[in-house]
Amino acid sequence: MMDILAVEDRYTSGLYTKRPIAIVRGQAAHLWDSHGRMYIDCVGGQGAANIGHANPQVAQAVAEQAQRLISCPEMFYNDRRAALEERLCQVSGYPRVFLCNSGAEANEAAIKFARLTTGRSEIIAFKRAFHGRTFGALSATWEKKYRQPFEPLVPGFTHLTYNDPQALQAAVSDQTAAVLLEVVQGEGGVHPASREFLTAAQQVCRERGALLIVDEVQTGFGRTGKLFAFQHYDLQPDLVCLAKSIAGGLPMGAVLIGERVGSLPPQTHGSTFGGNPLTCAAALASLNFLLENHLPEQAAELGGWFIEALRRLDSPQIREVRGLGLMVGIELKQKVTPYLQALMNEGVLALPAGLTVMRFLPPLVIEKSDLERVVEAVALVLTQEAAEWTK
Ligand SMILES: *Cc1c(COP(=O)(O)O)cnc(C)c1O
Repeated sequence: MMDILAVEDRYTSGLYTKRPIAIVRGQAAHLWDSHGRMYIDCVGGQGAANIGHANPQVAQAVAEQAQRLISCPEMFYNDRRAALEERLCQVSGYPRVFLCNSGAEANEAAIKFARLTTGRSEIIAFKRAFHGRTFGALSATWEKKYRQPFEPLVPGFTHLTYNDPQALQAAVSDQTAAVLLEVVQGEGGVHPASREFLTAAQQVCRERGALLIVDEVQTGFGRTGKLFAFQHYDLQPDLVCLAKSIAGGLPMGAVLIGERVGSLPPQTHGSTFGGNPLTCAAALASLNFLLENHLPEQAAELGGWFIEALRRLDSPQIREVRGLGLMVGIELKQKVTPYLQALMNEGVLALPAGLTVMRFLPPLVIEKSDLERVVEAVALVLTQEAAEWTK
């Protein structure tokens, strides 16, 4: 049999730090490696697997559509695209949508739409924000190690302190095209926004003619206990960026476009693969599955239980447990990497968020019994002894 790890190590770009297992199969919230070992998945495709792995409805929709039509650029109309656009607008209450292929691309589009329609250039983003790795999205991203090697970035971006409504009131001016924020910062360490901050952001944007862009790439599609996280706070962002779990794990991004956004003239933006029939069919099947099975409600209920269970853990390594729905982080007093390794040895896959936060993004179809096992595994690895083994 092919030595998967050796072959990838030989030919990979080298850009990723990888864990020494090859994942070859998945089913709902379980993954299997090439030796047949099963794991409880709390990586969830880094947020792309909300409806679970190998979802039969999505698999069938993709197989059927692949045999009918895969490519169809937006110079033509298409049945699957029409159906998805209508469905996305119906479930979100937005009048228009732009389809693309990734989270970074959704943020690029939203930033361009804001500059185009306001005629202003300044974008206000936040410390610890993550919006992607292309130049516009990267310019809105905070982390120095992602930014610095690629400077100069796009001009006109500033970063304010997150959850500080006063700083925001002071910064938004008649030069501001948009305020761009995550409702729960994901990569930055699982930091939920305060209601006060979000309300102030929307209000100040409306007062001063700026647009509010909400990046729901990670928080969208049920993750936080509502279909979209902004719905917890009665917000109406002007632009909402979507990707990750939008199409059942297939690559797709989208921007929901609100009433306050002016018209977008033909040819000012676009994408070859955007709105292709294959991912549109996957997204439709995924959205139907998510809503028919009440996965946002499930995320609210299970996530509430999970966060409480983690808060009850009595470990000297834990600084804080934070989260919303099934987007959960444990901030440790030490670096998280050895603990993630120890969790993997216990059969649980989880993610870092920054250097010290252990992050859980399980598929929303996860069984409570699996989450109970995750809590047990976390309890085990966060005891003193576990810290010793992993040194
Ligand atoms: C993952 C992520 C992105 C980038 O998405 P890609 O599809 O990797 O480009 C942007 N914003 C947020 C909040 C994310 O979590």
